Amino acid sequence: MQLLERRIREDGEVLPGGILKVDGFLNHQMDPELLMEMAREFHRLFAGDKVNKILTIEASGIGPACFAGLAFGCPVLFAKKNRTRNLSGEFWTAEVHSFTHGVTNTIMVSKKYLGSGDRVLIIDDFLANGAALNGLITLCLEAGAEVAGAGICIEKAFQPGGELIRSRGVRVESLARIESMSDDGGIAFCR
Ligand code: 5GP
Repeated sequence: MQLLERRIREDGEVLPGGILKVDGFLNHQMDPELLMEMAREFHRLFAGDKVNKILTIEASGIGPACFAGLAFGCPVLFAKKNRTRNLSGEFWTAEVHSFTHGVTNTIMVSKKYLGSGDRVLIIDDFLANGAALNGLITLCLEAGAEVAGAGICIEKAFQPGGELIRSRGVRVESLARIESMSDDGGIAFCR
């Protein structure tokens, strides 16, 4: 998506270790017009897929997911991160290791809001190693929900997440795919 790629070039900041900072329009301050355009694109890509629920993970997925909920006209559910494992039987859970923060979280959603009648589109801001997305897919399957696919704002295609998830047979659509980033700030997109 050209609009997003342009914004990444203009306002993104490459940090050492292959991290892209996009605090100016996505991860801290959010640009609602850009988020709405991204949501429309997700809707176009998954039109006809009978999506009845958007699922994401707190915190940075919530913004793009809410706009997607508006475009699809369906509820938005976010998985909560919880360090404790003692959860009652009312939640679906999965383990997610965050490479950026070096911790493993148990993610959880209430059984009240996700179940076998659901056809889910998972939305997230970034796809890197795929741990977050993998956990969300596992959680859906445990709940008996169908996964229509995943809509990602920015995929770092030089990391293994995209391949991992696609090899699970899940459709992944990323609006910007980064092929490489250099420490001097250069960003190359996949073509
Ligand atoms: P994964 O589980 O795919 O490795 O990473 C997913 C999560 O890590 C994303 O939802 C995002 O919050 C965070 N993340 C991974 N790489 C980056 C990055 O380069 N920049 C930012 N801002 N967040 C990232």
